[in-house]
Amino acid sequence: LALIIVGVVYWNRKLSRFNRTIAEANQALEQKSRELEKLSITDALTGLFNRLHLDQIFQSEFERTVRYQRNLSVIMMDVDRFKQVNDTHGHQMGDQVLCGIADVLRDRIRGTDTIGRWGGEEFLVICPETGIQGARKLADQLRADIAAINFKTVGTVTASFGVGQRCPGQLPRDLIREADQALLRAKADGRNRVVTADI
Ligand code: GH3
Ligand code: MG
Ligand code: MG
Repeated sequence: LALIIVGVVYWNRKLSRFNRTIAEANQALEQKSRELEKLSITDALTGLFNRLHLDQIFQSEFERTVRYQRNLSVIMMDVDRFKQVNDTHGHQMGDQVLCGIADVLRDRIRGTDTIGRWGGEEFLVICPETGIQGARKLADQLRADIAAINFKTVGTVTASFGVGQRCPGQLPRDLIREADQALLRAKADGRNRVVTADI
């Protein structure tokens, strides 16, 4: 009987040690999966949302605002003459400028807005519950904030902005195209400015 009791106690201890190990491994796995999930939606250089995640948020916000007939505006932004920054100061310095700009954008936008890197030196801000005038105001603030940064080596840089608002019957890609076209006009009109799409 004594032998059986010792055996059972020994086996129980072994089992609870094994359970602890499994629980720890599970925790580590969950942590890793959270890290991976964060990586999959993050732009590696700036730490902002990446294009993939921006697209997902844009699609779902678009659908939501169609369903509930709410406002939705977007701001497309492109750094002016950025190739020149790279050519003059090197790619690494260019990267630092992009990170500095991303920090300012992150600080300035409202909690309900979403910002991410659309690609290269282009950024997109998604502004739900915002009409074109509100989005224009925000873009103007972003423009002024960026122009006010003084980078140690590069000095100052500017950016141009195109603003669009969702119209009834529009497809998601139409709204992006509108903001893109407004941005092109901002470039053609001399850069460092905000242009709104005609609605
Ligand atoms: P514009 O005012 O017309 O926009 O002129 P631009 O020079 O900014 O435009 P262009 O499209 O000619 O050049 C964009 C440059 O941005 C070229 C590309 O090498 C640079 N670029 C894109 N992504 C990155 C990046 O991640 N890091 C750095 N350092 N440069 C980048
Ligand atoms: Mg560009
Ligand atoms: Mg550019």
